[in-house]
Amino acid sequence: MDEEEAYAHVRNTLKEERMMPFSTSEMEVVRSVGQCINCGTCLNHCPVTRAVGVERFTGPRGIAVELSRSPPEYWSSTDRIYLCTGCGTCREVCPKNVDIPNVVNLMRRRIFSQRPDLVPQSLHQQNEILRKHNLAFVPWDDPDEKAESRNMRLERLDLPFIKDKIRKGAEVLFYPGCQAEERAQEVREAAKIILERFNVDYTLVEKMTCCSLPAILVGDMEKSIELSTILKKQIDDLGVKKIVTTCAGCTSNLNEIAARNNWEIPVYHILEFLVEDIGVHEVSKALSPMDDHTVRVTVHDPCHLIRHTSRRVLEYAHRLLNAIPDVEVVESSAHDLCCGGGGLVGRHSPDVSRVIVKENIRAIKETSAERIVTPCPLCTAQIEESLFRDGSDIEVDDLTVFIAQSFEGG
Ligand code: SF4
Ligand code: SF4
Repeated sequence: MDEEEAYAHVRNTLKEERMMPFSTSEMEVVRSVGQCINCGTCLNHCPVTRAVGVERFTGPRGIAVELSRSPPEYWSSTDRIYLCTGCGTCREVCPKNVDIPNVVNLMRRRIFSQRPDLVPQSLHQQNEILRKHNLAFVPWDDPDEKAESRNMRLERLDLPFIKDKIRKGAEVLFYPGCQAEERAQEVREAAKIILERFNVDYTLVEKMTCCSLPAILVGDMEKSIELSTILKKQIDDLGVKKIVTTCAGCTSNLNEIAARNNWEIPVYHILEFLVEDIGVHEVSKALSPMDDHTVRVTVHDPCHLIRHTSRRVLEYAHRLLNAIPDVEVVESSAHDLCCGGGGLVGRHSPDVSRVIVKENIRAIKETSAERIVTPCPLCTAQIEESLFRDGSDIEVDDLTVFIAQSFEGG
């Protein structure tokens, strides 16, 4: 067989197996897998393998191996590939910088485009919501009911309501993300309170659309590109210079999209914005004691901030918390352990998600903190649900809400 015949043979085999050859950028990810020296370090740190065992989740090294297998075995990896939370712990500890979260996204992309029959039904359903509403959740039918739910949440937290601002030419776009827009509305409102407090020239978008991360996690690149294009058009129309978010996933995803597509617009989590643009000294002038006693809090570090954005964001969280009078921060031994809520694992396999978070819950209880705070509405929901199931009375707050609550004068 000459070279030409060999290529034809490979092409035909791939066609029969319903596989497309890798693109140039995909080849870079595939090559990174070739760097693996089989040391097994990642396996010892993977929160999913630790929670459910190597029989159910072969771990990062196993995923890397799947990528280099023949097509039938490659497709047979689907029961494992949807259990990765994308936490990035494996990439962080790998001595050869093998980028497993990227490998997982690549495999999910290829399965979605070439063997959609292998994508779990729960993820197809999730994607249908995204395709229909451009949001990760089914939006409220009735705007009055949505407003009523928001007002109840604000009343419970003793926070005021500030009317939305949509203004061309504003400096900052406040982008709340789907969870804060449709579910944890108090996070969206708390961010507005903070931005108003420091006279930030900000705007919201007229119509919220998802940042595209759920589409990437399902593997639907067409939808992902459509969503980021809509957002870019909104950014251009508004003429904003910066994006501020309150969600860990939105922060890391929009940062990546902005860098890849040369948007030339920085994306900040609100904690970064507070420390870098406003300054801790200025913020501290607005803070007052939360209660009539010292409040013991512990912090959960979202993977999408510490491993996909920068660890400095959590350093900022501690600086801001330490600036609140009468707040004592106690560290949980699992503060930077994945909570099991990422990678759509909570949608696809809630049983796995619940086992992963158990270690976080055990460690949180050990701190004797009365509150746990985290700068991400998705992590907040995941931890809150698990503490509730556990019968714990530890309060759970999104850190954006916690900061807004600590402003002097409410
Ligand atoms: S990204 Fe996290 S869950 Fe996925 S394989 Fe790596 S360590 Fe495990
Ligand atoms: S830590 Fe990196 S080099 Fe070691 S087994 Fe895992 S992927 Fe391979």
